[in-house]
Amino acid sequence: IYIPEIAKGMAITLKHFFKKKVTVSYPDETRPFSPVFRGLHVLNRDEEGRERCTACGLCAVACPAEAITMEAAERLPGEENLYREEKYAAKYEINMLRCIFCGLCEEACPKDAIYLSETVTPSDYARKKFIYTKEDLLIPNPVTEPEAYKEALGKNQPTTAGSLK
Ligand code: SF4
Repeated sequence: IYIPEIAKGMAITLKHFFKKKVTVSYPDETRPFSPVFRGLHVLNRDEEGRERCTACGLCAVACPAEAITMEAAERLPGEENLYREEKYAAKYEINMLRCIFCGLCEEACPKDAIYLSETVTPSDYARKKFIYTKEDLLIPNPVTEPEAYKEALGKNQPTTAGSLK
């Protein structure tokens, strides 16, 4: 009496068995990202390797998620090779759990000091791992660490959605 229903059920199972899978085995495989995808932030340096950020705070003001925390410091004599202008960010943190990857920080920055890259923010179990510090975000120095800089730049290209394209 149930045979037609069982046959119908099996037919549906068989139909789906041969269909193309809708999932991919991440992280070995990934899907192409949307052209407007924005990923992990990068703090940029100039061609002489100096930090571009002058700690003006416009990114933090523009951030709708209040994800950015920074502390400014004055450049000391002899630090001209480290920081491009008289002020720099002694502390710069982004809370990736708050961030909505809108890119407004990049848009607001008058110094091209921050951009959102094509790198996906890695997942983790601990909340504190999502507070990215300046050390996590700053790109290696192209003058003193050219190889590390090239590698980091290769992995962290600006997104096509960004203003630095
Ligand atoms: Fe804030 Fe948007 Fe920048 Fe994230 S991408 S830190 S939410 S301004």
